Amino acid sequence: MDEKNLKKETCAVHAGRMSAEHFGVVNTPVYRASTVLYSDLAALESGKVPYVYGRRGTPSSRSLEEAVNAIEGGARTVICSSGLNAIALALLSVCSAGDHLLMVDSCYGPTRWFCDRTLSRFGVETTYYDPCLRAGIEALFRPNTKAVFCESPGSLTFEVQDVPAIAAVAHAHGASVLLDNTWATPLYFDAFAHGADLSIQAATKYVGGHADVMLGYVCANESHAARLAQTHDHLGIYASGDDCFLALRGLRTLPVRLKRHGETALALARWLQQRPEVSRVLYPALEDDPGHGLWKRDFTGATGLFGVVLKPVPHDALAAFFDSLKLFGMGYSWGGYESLIVPSKLHRTASKFSADGPLLRIHAGLEDADDLKADLQHGFAAMK
Ligand SMILES: *Cc1c(COP(=O)(O)O)cnc(C)c1O
Repeated sequence: MDEKNLKKETCAVHAGRMSAEHFGVVNTPVYRASTVLYSDLAALESGKVPYVYGRRGTPSSRSLEEAVNAIEGGARTVICSSGLNAIALALLSVCSAGDHLLMVDSCYGPTRWFCDRTLSRFGVETTYYDPCLRAGIEALFRPNTKAVFCESPGSLTFEVQDVPAIAAVAHAHGASVLLDNTWATPLYFDAFAHGADLSIQAATKYVGGHADVMLGYVCANESHAARLAQTHDHLGIYASGDDCFLALRGLRTLPVRLKRHGETALALARWLQQRPEVSRVLYPALEDDPGHGLWKRDFTGATGLFGVVLKPVPHDALAAFFDSLKLFGMGYSWGGYESLIVPSKLHRTASKFSADGPLLRIHAGLEDADDLKADLQHGFAAMK
């Protein structure tokens, strides 16, 4: 089967399956392994066996790698123990001492801590840039700029980046383009078609999809595949067979889940826009969102995560709102089947985000949209 010609939805169902190697069983079983035995000395000396040691891969991780690789349309995928682990790996695979990194100011918070507190110790300097910069990012390039990191839409504030324009500048300067594509997943944003060299995913979120697995991956194009695989191997990054199994199970239903998450998010976003308590809704699928044009040009869908800026409200009223919600859980992470809500705290150094009131982040789960609206309505009533 030539997976290159298949739609992503079909890949999500078929890619990475190895039923013939497992007695016809549809799903690749959970492999728990450290030692892998060789049949004879010749096999050991040649190294020509599919699996050599648990850390370096089992059929469980290989199945997930192959499935992801087919959906992403990449050259090589490696599985990591978390999304943050995947981000750190991607950066370590391209940056060396003396290099300069351009990091988007709206990145996932822990990405910033990794750059500022760990990567900096190895002589890599990070400059943050405004997520709304397009070709104008060129002014920030230095002779030693090695990589540009994008995350679109941005964490918490949801600015859509012009990834193709940024990638064109980066490539003209010989720099690599890294993209945290967790919000859109490869189903709604084709990282490589838009100029990324490394596509990063916190599989903890939508790929896992059931709030019960921590996992990440990095998928590389041809030119970045060897360095990525080598760095992954040298760092000893490992993901358990159980977690790979769960991520693969999630991947099979990702297209149908995302469609529903997106529909519900749009319904909630439109409803919230009409509420007197709401100042602004940050969701690129809304026609009046500043990122809507770029989103329409580059994305094929919107998922379930968006931001809400409330009008100014006393803290105890805000607490009453949060504490009275029954269907929206309060907790970090997102991408599972359940709805979530959290207050957001911004960390920015290169761009301004102005909000007159508190900023919230909502994840629309798979519940009925009217039930979710009723829950929020109940919260707003308690806020008064
Ligand atoms: C959650 C998240 C991550 C980190 O994923 P973990 O699996 O929690 O480490 C990275 N990027 C984005 C955009 C995220 O939302």
